[in-house]
Amino acid sequence: PEEPGAPNQDEDNLRSPICCIMGHVDTGKTKLLDCIRGTNVQEGEAGGITQQIGATYFPAENIRERTKELKADAKLKVPGLLVIDTPGHESFTNLRSRGSGLCDIAILVVDIMHGLEPQTIESLNLLKMRNTEFIVALNKVDRLYGWKVCKNAPIVKAMKQQSKDVQFEFNTRLTQIVTQFKEQGINTELYYKNKEMGKDTFSIVPTSAISGEGIPDMLLLLVQWTQKTMIERLTYSNEVQCTVLEVKVVEGHGTTIDVVLVNGVLHEGDQIVVCGMQAWKSPFYVHYLSLGPIVTSIRALLTPHPMKELRVKGTYLHHKKIKAAQGIKITAQGFEHAIAGTSLYVVGPDDDVEDIKEAAMEDMKSVMSRIDKS
Ligand code: GDP
Repeated sequence: PEEPGAPNQDEDNLRSPICCIMGHVDTGKTKLLDCIRGTNVQEGEAGGITQQIGATYFPAENIRERTKELKADAKLKVPGLLVIDTPGHESFTNLRSRGSGLCDIAILVVDIMHGLEPQTIESLNLLKMRNTEFIVALNKVDRLYGWKVCKNAPIVKAMKQQSKDVQFEFNTRLTQIVTQFKEQGINTELYYKNKEMGKDTFSIVPTSAISGEGIPDMLLLLVQWTQKTMIERLTYSNEVQCTVLEVKVVEGHGTTIDVVLVNGVLHEGDQIVVCGMQAWKSPFYVHYLSLGPIVTSIRALLTPHPMKELRVKGTYLHHKKIKAAQGIKITAQGFEHAIAGTSLYVVGPDDDVEDIKEAAMEDMKSVMSRIDKS
């Protein structure tokens, strides 16, 4: 690993931070995602679409455009932001990359009308356990009585438009919530007052996922916070770090895997190893499990079009190679029994495939022990 602040660190050689969304049910996690990507998955879900894990990539250009009203002089050093759509905190627990958390930063969503709720505290405990940085989105500010909508406005600007009563209610609720966090051993502060950024005090961004107030602030804060506090972690490395999110059959492509490429680069044709498992019944109704690494070659590297989610149906873009961080669909032979939650390994020119197979199976064991425990 590089020395902190090593002079040869190349700021242009950063990967995109990976962000996930956590919080109590109904705080607006899905709506916030919809709001930042300008789609409407939540209404679709009500229509019976199953919850899956997806990822959305926001290029820096998009973030720059949406945050320009904030007149932030900070230049964006990361190429973009990859947001994982985590339905609840199970996926945060299961999404691991070689033993550590997959996410660089989390958005912990709190409903300003409800304050901290049981799953907020569960999420907090997970974040603490993993030592994961997070920001608090204090959502549903538009529900403050008498709120005047300022669509997609930066929060300070929106707050200035509000009556004294609304501002008073906001401050009262904010103070209560800061106290609730303190009771959990967490210091929080409104982000624009939290000059120190990081380490001891976590930032709160007031948002509305319905009318968009505070969304520019949230996007900018995610990028600024990660750039400032985790340059080392975000420094691009040649070693591939990649986690399998889902295994699924896609018409015309056979069994595919959806992965998050956390670091490194993948190429079409790369020889890869993923964990596999097969179950069958014997004539005596005893279940047998057969575990084994799958060795195959990448046939195609696919991504959805920018700003669309991995799970939204449609055409894919084909790539000769992809650099981290990205959500990618991979097609190859032999994925039928691949296992989600495990790592994908690339067999490099100097690697012994047997060593890599062994590493994959070690990873497999850790996944199995997590399943046993739950
Ligand atoms: P999740 O369970 O955390 O994913 O919550 P959802 O995104 O499904 O939102 C729960 C409910 O709260 C839905 O009816 C949303 O329309 C509503 N909601 C979410 N965010 C906001 C917001 O910022 N303001 C208001 N007024 N309602 C919101």
